[in-house]
Amino acid sequence: MRSIPVLMYHHVLPKAGFIASAVEQFEAQMRFLAENQWHTLTSEEFAAFKRREFSPPKKSLLITFDDGWRDNAVYAYPILRHYGLKATMFLVTEWVEKASQAPETYEPLQHKECKNTVPRHPGKVIVNWDEVASMQDVFDFHSHTHTHADGYFETIPWEEEFTLSKEMLKKRLDIDSRHLCWPRGRYDSSLIALAGKAGFDILYTTKRGINVANGESETIYRLAAKKEAQWLQKNLRIFSNALIGKLYASVKPE
Ligand SMILES: [Zn+2]
Repeated sequence: MRSIPVLMYHHVLPKAGFIASAVEQFEAQMRFLAENQWHTLTSEEFAAFKRREFSPPKKSLLITFDDGWRDNAVYAYPILRHYGLKATMFLVTEWVEKASQAPETYEPLQHKECKNTVPRHPGKVIVNWDEVASMQDVFDFHSHTHTHADGYFETIPWEEEFTLSKEMLKKRLDIDSRHLCWPRGRYDSSLIALAGKAGFDILYTTKRGINVANGESETIYRLAAKKEAQWLQKNLRIFSNALIGKLYASVKPE
C-alpha cells in the first residue's frame, strides 16, 4: 500500500541552525525532487488522496512549512518557484495580522531570535498579507491557529484559536480552510473534536509516520526535514511505502 510522505520545515536561512535548513541545503533537496520527477501535491490534492478521491502520480509528497517565518518568503519561495514545486504554509493568523500592521526591514535570524522578535517586532520576522498574496503561485495557506496558543500577544480560548483563524483566512485570502497544524504538535481528542466543530478536519501533527488513503484525516503524520539531500532521498523511499514506513516509524517515532 502506498503512503504519501509529508515534510515539515520551519526555517530556510543563509546558515543552518535549530529547525533551520541552510539555503544551499534546501536548494539541493528541492533540486533533487525536481531532477528525480517527484511530484509536490497541493494541500487539496493531498486531502483528496486521503479521502480516496484522487490517485496522485507515483512519486508524490506534500511539503509543509510551519509558523509563517519571513525567511520562507525570502529564501524558500524563490527556490520552490524556480523548480516548479508546490508547498503548504501554516500561518499563525494573529502574527500575520500584527506583522501586516507594521512591516519592518527583513533581517535573517535563527529560530530562537525569531521567537524573541515576534512579540515586539512581528513585522520583521513574520510574513505579512501582501507577501502571502504574492506567494500563492507556490504556496497554499492554512491555519496554525490564531495565536500559536502560547500567549505571545494574548491568551484566548481554544475555540477562538480555531474560529478566529478560520475567519481571518477567509477575510484576507478568501479561503475556506479545513487544514490545521497543531502548534508544538500538541493535541488531544477533545481538541480534535473542538477543531472539527470549527471546521478543521485535516489535522497535521509533528509525529513521524505514514499517510495512507483511508478516508481519515484527523492525524496527518509528518517528517521533520533534516538538512541533507541524502536524508530526503532515503526518507521519501521509506515513507512512500506504507509497510516499510510503518515499521520504521514504530522503531523511530520522533
Ligand atoms: Zn509552530
